[in-house]
Amino acid sequence: MTSRKGYIFDLMEQHDYENLFLCQEKNLGLKAIFAIHDTTLGPAAGGVRMWTYDTEAAAIHDALRLARGMTYKWAAAGANMGGGKCVVIGNPKREKTEGLFRTLGRFMQRLGGLFLAGPDVGTDMRDMEILRMETSYVVFTPESWGGPGDPSPATAFGVVQSMRACLKEVYGSADLQGRTIAVQGVGAVGEPAVELLVDAGAIVTVADVDQEKAERIADQYGAKQAHPEEIHALNVDVYCPCALGAVLNDQTIPELRCKIICGSANNQLAQDRHGDLVAQRGILYAPDYIANAGGALVGVDSLNPGGFNRPRAMETVSRIYETTEKVIALAKEQAIPTYRAADLLAERRIAMARQVKSLATRG
Ligand code: NAD
Repeated sequence: MTSRKGYIFDLMEQHDYENLFLCQEKNLGLKAIFAIHDTTLGPAAGGVRMWTYDTEAAAIHDALRLARGMTYKWAAAGANMGGGKCVVIGNPKREKTEGLFRTLGRFMQRLGGLFLAGPDVGTDMRDMEILRMETSYVVFTPESWGGPGDPSPATAFGVVQSMRACLKEVYGSADLQGRTIAVQGVGAVGEPAVELLVDAGAIVTVADVDQEKAERIADQYGAKQAHPEEIHALNVDVYCPCALGAVLNDQTIPELRCKIICGSANNQLAQDRHGDLVAQRGILYAPDYIANAGGALVGVDSLNPGGFNRPRAMETVSRIYETTEKVIALAKEQAIPTYRAADLLAERRIAMARQVKSLATRG
């Protein structure tokens, strides 16, 4: 190690992170990390992820990477939130206990609202209820508590809004009637997306590694069914990835026959350069964190005076249409791929907020 600052500070300095908190409680077995990237726009909000990391370094890297992703997601979506993430090291199927999550809640309370929590991979609404016993800084609570409940239907609605903006760009009309859409993964987001698309008159094909689920959804909504290995390569207007990340890679990109890619899956580009390849193929890509912001946006609606209001929250989600339009316009203006235009949109908004703040402090 040659650096005077050391490994962790080098990592933080690379993308200008504000804070990294490590929390442990040995009797209950809690090992958790809070990463706070940028709070220019507001307090950091993000999911609590529980995962079995091979090393502590892997967990820290993941927390930092995900926190930065949230900064961009909020900024581009027009929300006044900063980027943060909480990572709990452990197996969510075997090591989750009430004590563990209450202790995590205590640590969160100590942060005094710097970090606001929602569910993520390995955590669910029940865990949010347990956190809520010890901290008020949980934005996602169940519907029975007056909160937004499951964010997935709102995520699906946001994806459809983004898709409409892409259709308008490519075909001159945002209408879904008669458009052909291939939905990969019919889980918590994929299923409500299929419902919305079919209701709007689209011709939908679905695929899921869970064959039974794919069959049930196809029957229920009158959709066609494809093999999970082939869904990305169908000759359709829109490929809608709602399963795993890294679906746009060296193997799949040459096989694509769609005009638009727009889905909920996180980290769809295996690497940034795959965003360039997709653009070179003349396919319009709705950047994942732009299209899938709906669930996150309904969560933070709870922070408004008076608490959660579903019509207002869904109105906010519907604006993903305009955000997608802005990304497409910026990509054209700057002659850059849409994934880079999304980052630029976010960076410009943060820079604007910094300027506003500096004016405020000058009086
Ligand atoms: P989910 O686990 O409920 O559903 C995923 C579905 O994809 C499952 O039915 C699974 O069987 C299927 N699947 C897995 N691998 C597949 C493959 N190779 N081919 C076809 N199907 C496959 O998850 P979800 O909550 O619906 O989330 C879907 C994606 O959207 C994830 O990438 C998630 O990170 C992202 N996302 C979700 C939300 C949300 O509100 N739930 C918000 C933002 C982003």
